[in-house]
Amino acid sequence: MSAELKALYELQTIDLDLAKAQKARAALDDGSAKKRQVEAARQEVDATNKLLHEATTEMQDKDLNLKSVETKQKVFKDKLYGGRVTNPKELESMEKEIEMLGRQKDKLEERILELLDIVEERKSALAAAEAALKQQEDELAAMMEKRRQDEASLLARMKELSAQREKALPAVEPALLKRYEALRPRAGGVVVSKVEADSCSACHTQIMSGGMRELRSDKEQQTCENCGRMLYLEAK
Ligand SMILES: [Zn+2]
Repeated sequence: MSAELKALYELQTIDLDLAKAQKARAALDDGSAKKRQVEAARQEVDATNKLLHEATTEMQDKDLNLKSVETKQKVFKDKLYGGRVTNPKELESMEKEIEMLGRQKDKLEERILELLDIVEERKSALAAAEAALKQQEDELAAMMEKRRQDEASLLARMKELSAQREKALPAVEPALLKRYEALRPRAGGVVVSKVEADSCSACHTQIMSGGMRELRSDKEQQTCENCGRMLYLEAK
């Protein structure tokens, strides 16, 4: 009996290793969490870039406004100090105009100074966001490369185990194999339990001395009283 069980036990060992490799493959990180982090970092870069663009555009507008105000002011000043206008009312209105343009100019200059700071801040924010994105992308690339390598080695292992299974299969007695295949799903893959220190190694139940005697006599198939698995006592 033990010779037949030995062949089955060896097949089971291969099957358990195969199941382990399949499980490890299924558990490989597909990088989706990291991809979401990369996407979030990319959105942060886009948002920061947009803010920087807004500030730069506003600054260009304000610069143009300032130039046009300065030009208008110069026209009035040239006229005023050119001495050609003598009408007091006209002079007065020109002075008012120059004053008003002066206030506009002050406001524009103030905003341009603010914008200079804002642009600088946003440039730094953009650089930081870009660095963060780069880091996330590098991490993702490293993760995907590791996954590729892990998967390749698991696939190689599975291929090797499948070949071993092919070789081990003919040695297993057909009726025993049929029973094994039928019981496998319920037994968590462990249909044959090796006897270790007079106990069932699957459920750790002590085997009575009578049972041990039967096992040693190696005549009939013995099963564990507790878990019902086939007991396999390795021949000394
Ligand atoms: Zn047991």
